[in-house]
Amino acid sequence: MPIITRKIELKIVRLTDEEYDQQWKYLYQINNTIYQAANRISTHCLFNDEYEMRLRLRYMSQCNKIDKKLEKLNPDKKTSDKEEQYRLLNERKELDEDFKNKKQDFQRIKRNSTYQLVSKEFLNYIPAEILTDLNQYVQNNHNNNKNKVKSGERALSTYKKGMGIPFSIKPESGLRLFVKEEGIYLKWFKGILFRLEFGKDASNNRCIVERLIESDKQQKKKGEDYVANNSSIKLVKNGKNTRIFLLLSIDIPAKKQVLDKEVVLGVDLGIKCPLYLAINKDDNFKMQIGDIEHFHNQRTMFQKRFKSLQKLMCTQGGHGRKKKLEPLEKLKEKERNWVHTQNHVYSREVIKQALKQNAGTIHMESLKDFGKGKEGYVKDEYKYLLRYWSYYELQSMIEYKAKLEGIEVKYIDPAYTSQTCSYCGERGERKKQEEFVCTNPQCKRRGEKINADFNAARNIAMSKKIVKDN
Ligand SMILES: [Zn+2]
Repeated sequence: MPIITRKIELKIVRLTDEEYDQQWKYLYQINNTIYQAANRISTHCLFNDEYEMRLRLRYMSQCNKIDKKLEKLNPDKKTSDKEEQYRLLNERKELDEDFKNKKQDFQRIKRNSTYQLVSKEFLNYIPAEILTDLNQYVQNNHNNNKNKVKSGERALSTYKKGMGIPFSIKPESGLRLFVKEEGIYLKWFKGILFRLEFGKDASNNRCIVERLIESDKQQKKKGEDYVANNSSIKLVKNGKNTRIFLLLSIDIPAKKQVLDKEVVLGVDLGIKCPLYLAINKDDNFKMQIGDIEHFHNQRTMFQKRFKSLQKLMCTQGGHGRKKKLEPLEKLKEKERNWVHTQNHVYSREVIKQALKQNAGTIHMESLKDFGKGKEGYVKDEYKYLLRYWSYYELQSMIEYKAKLEGIEVKYIDPAYTSQTCSYCGERGERKKQEEFVCTNPQCKRRGEKINADFNAARNIAMSKKIVKDN
């Protein structure tokens, strides 16, 4: 199973200053002791190897002695030798048995012995769960390198300050990743809450983490979905500041769902609802995603806050212009974040539905001519959405999330998708914003009121007018 590792910056969520300081202290305390614990485990692994080697050497020398005695005997001619041979062979058997038992016993206590050792010394500074993971990590390292160390190809590993602090993300334990409002958080030891900072996120880390959280929720088995492997956090000194990074290791399934390229999911971007989905092969599937009402309310709320903030700033004089603009900028940022999060939620749902329908292809409208009326200019209601909703962002999110699943994304020319009947292909009428009626006398759905967004989404799914760029 392939494993991917992602590096994501973490910020501690500050509740009170006192608590924040304590949490940093706690992190430093672990950071300042964990490499010592790792070195202790590593050294002890060496002792264990040594002990095993002595056990083997003693056994071999005892065997040798018996073998030499056996060589000197002549059981075919002397009866006394025959008796001696019988006795020695029995002794040899017992020796084998004894060695086998000792080896097995030692294997059993070996793993635990290193843990016992470090826990005595470090349990006051490092949580038991981390020590357990550390023990596993160092032992695995030791075993993997053993032969190379023996042959002189490499030196023994030593662990230095600043090494990763290993821990396991498990949905059932206290350590877990979760989505809350516009952020993704990691709950850690001592009540520390980290917020994951994705920055520009060129490598789609957010998408991968979301997928991981989604898999945890569904309690899927290894091999079927994303599973968190060994993770660690790393403190990195950066001048006066220390930055925290999460190194997230994820098992991703090698076997992907085999999707049908011929099944096309059409995505209609609308003004009544942000997204409407339909597929090309039949009309049994239809789905609306998002709620434009919710969007308008949120938008109005932000506008109100903008206005009251502006008013407030007009009455407050004195400070520099830059300082004045700061709260406005912050509010704008908040609004952008909100839209960004909604786009993530919507795009995730689109991919989920595409997989459910086994669709290997997604069709979206090219935004180049999006919302243009007969006269060729963009209608006001679409302008508003293009500007505030950022359909471009939504489409690019759908595109990269689709790529991760092996779904192909194509853009189509949106002209007439809302005025054409998706059953007969003839032009019909979009009577109201939400209704389409076909007037073709030969059409089996003639005169029926069809959901206009559904009709458009199906036309998009069935469209052959592929345009190259968006
Ligand atoms: Zn028709």
